[in-house]
This record gives sequence, structure tokens and C-alpha cells, in this order.
Amino acid sequence: MDPLLTLAIAAATPAALVTLGYAGLCWVKPVTTCRRCAGTGRTTTRVLRRPRACRRCDRGHRLRAGRRIFNYFHRLRAEATR
Ligand SMILES: [Zn+2]
Repeated sequence: MDPLLTLAIAAATPAALVTLGYAGLCWVKPVTTCRRCAGTGRTTTRVLRRPRACRRCDRGHRLRAGRRIFNYFHRLRAEATR
């Protein structure tokens, strides 16, 4: 076997596994807990520390970045083929 091909396979396999693993995770669990409010859905203001609704999420849950990218291309394809 060609050593260059072996090197290419050794370099590409972990990257492919990580990519497919994240795609599978986005398919199985598209929603994750918000890191800003730690899943509570509420944050405090910086000045007076008053509780407010978290602006980054919907009640403590938010879509993963991979799922948002998938949804974007899915809608783009649906609009293009309509
Ligand atoms: Zn949040």
C-alpha cells in the first residue's frame, strides 16, 4: 500500500468520524441546554441583577449550530424546488 495513501486515510478518518458523530448527535438530539442561562431560561441584568428572560434561548433550550445549518439548507432547497 502506498504510504501517502495510508497517511491520507489516517488523517481523514478521525475528521470524518467526528463530523459524522456530530451530524448524528444533531439528528438524535437537535436541542441542547442554553449555556448562557444553564437551562433555566432566566438571566440577571448586569447593572441591578434583576431577573429577566434569557434572550439567547427558548425557555432554556436552544438548537445546536449543526441543526440550524441543516435547517437553513433544508429550507433553501425547499424554496428552490417549490
Ligand atoms: Zn438561555
